[in-house]
Amino acid sequence: MKLTREPMIAYFSMEIGIQSSIPTYSGGLGVLAGDTIKSGADLNLPMVAVTLLSEKGYFRQELDEKGRQTEHPVVWEPAKFMTLLSPKVSVEIEGRKVLIQTWYYTVKSFTGGQVPVFFLDTDIKENAPEDRELTSFLYGKDLVYRLKQEIILGIGGARMLKKLGFEIKKYHLNEGHASLLTLELLQTFQKPIEEVWDEKLVWDVSRVKDLCVFTTHTPVEAGHDRFSYDLVRQILGEPVPFDILKGLAGQEALNMTLLALNLSEFVNGVAKKHGEVSRNMFPGYKISAITNGVHSYTWTCESFKKLYDKYLPGWANEPELFVRIGRVPDEEIWEAHMEAKKILLGYVRETTGVEMSPDLLTLGFARRATAYKRADLLFSDLERLKAIGTGKIQIIYAGKAHPNDQPGKALIERIFYFKEKLKDHIQLVYLANYNMELALKLVSGVDVWLNTPLRPREASGTSGMKAAHNGVVNFSVLDGWWIEGHIEGYTGWAIGPNPTETKLVEGYDTRDAEDLYNKLEQVIIPIYYKEKGIWIRMMQNAIGKNAYYFNTHRMMRRYVTEAYIR
Ligand SMILES: *Cc1c(COP(=O)(O)O)cnc(C)c1O
Repeated sequence: MKLTREPMIAYFSMEIGIQSSIPTYSGGLGVLAGDTIKSGADLNLPMVAVTLLSEKGYFRQELDEKGRQTEHPVVWEPAKFMTLLSPKVSVEIEGRKVLIQTWYYTVKSFTGGQVPVFFLDTDIKENAPEDRELTSFLYGKDLVYRLKQEIILGIGGARMLKKLGFEIKKYHLNEGHASLLTLELLQTFQKPIEEVWDEKLVWDVSRVKDLCVFTTHTPVEAGHDRFSYDLVRQILGEPVPFDILKGLAGQEALNMTLLALNLSEFVNGVAKKHGEVSRNMFPGYKISAITNGVHSYTWTCESFKKLYDKYLPGWANEPELFVRIGRVPDEEIWEAHMEAKKILLGYVRETTGVEMSPDLLTLGFARRATAYKRADLLFSDLERLKAIGTGKIQIIYAGKAHPNDQPGKALIERIFYFKEKLKDHIQLVYLANYNMELALKLVSGVDVWLNTPLRPREASGTSGMKAAHNGVVNFSVLDGWWIEGHIEGYTGWAIGPNPTETKLVEGYDTRDAEDLYNKLEQVIIPIYYKEKGIWIRMMQNAIGKNAYYFNTHRMMRRYVTEAYIR
């Protein structure tokens, strides 16, 4: 490994999704982390990343004929992709010493830039059997397991970087999971008592703050990790006196978000609206907004890559070139799209046996199956949907439910139930095991990308940005990134009212469903079948206005100038 003396930006994330065959991610957060690192490499940023090995992955999803989900460990061999390094560090958990080793992977860019990624691993024979499992399952088991994992990530990760000789100029905490690293820094910078007068200064909070950048991703209160101080005492001990810790992380329980907020100089939400929601949730903190993006090269399908190479050479490292998409002939855009659509429909045939038509308007919906995403909004009125869509639309779903999310699992079963109800009228398939590879097929192969979250719970959302990179238009609730990317009838269509409310209001579902049906019937279906020229213009606008902006190159330039070098 080439070590550098240059001070680095250290990016910490519980999950990182680089490619489908390295299954150390569950969804949006991990994929964003992977895309961030890839753009970091393309832009030659001095950056390293730290995550957990997740040796059994998140899980492989199997669905039976009723849509009941079973979870299987993912079998993969880290040694096929990465190298095990010899240095080890340790952390203390429940009074035991837990050894940590690390796997090393490099994200290499065609520009020559590279970002080392360290996958922490406790499966070492000197460790107690239960500790050897601490880096096996991403978001597995219970709260105790989670706290132990967060000790490995935050404290173990910081120690590993030090052991490997990196000098760090900024620690970027991608979500609160890595917040415990702030305690490690506080301890490192602890000054001898004689040097200071004020006891508080023994813990050099401002020095830690200067080093930390925190990105929050969760607009839902329950989404923030919280641990009781009894549990913290039992598992972690008292690395920082509890009276000081409580001042930084909350009096009642250790709130990982609060800890990161209090110890990071720069804090941001992941879309403008999410910044606003976060400021309401945490009054008194300065919270900026840097809207997410996706890595353009990763999220463009083969046929569109060829098209962009031909007409917009250099696009992959300069997505701003999408501004000239109007130069690409309509027929070639349509051909590239049909190529992607046929690949998706071929996959549908192979995996489900269902034959779908390339000539039918195809709606796609794929995301984590959890209640607020409202995957079933489309089926609010089956008779209406049949009347509008019979012979005109077909629908493709995908998405995993977290193993402990019972309502999420029930939601998948409901979609299967609707699939049966609709089968003589509208074809619907639910594809199993949504992952990055399937995501690219879906976001490029459907005609319209549907998203129906309950406002304001979609912090950003990124799959719609992926769709835009492939000329697929968005039809979504005005929440997260779509508030910024949406121009009605130009880049896509909105579902439901303008996003003025930050609080949830009763009656959303019917209002949103009504709007969804009306637009599908009166606007989207007519344009698709009768106004191909307008349709292709909208595909171009998705690329020229949405993909142009909602990419991680733009996002990283902002992190650099606003968070990393300040
Ligand atoms: C992009 C992606 C996501 C996140 O999409 P959202 O729109 O934020 O829900 C989740 N899972 C996979 C596999 C992805 O590729």
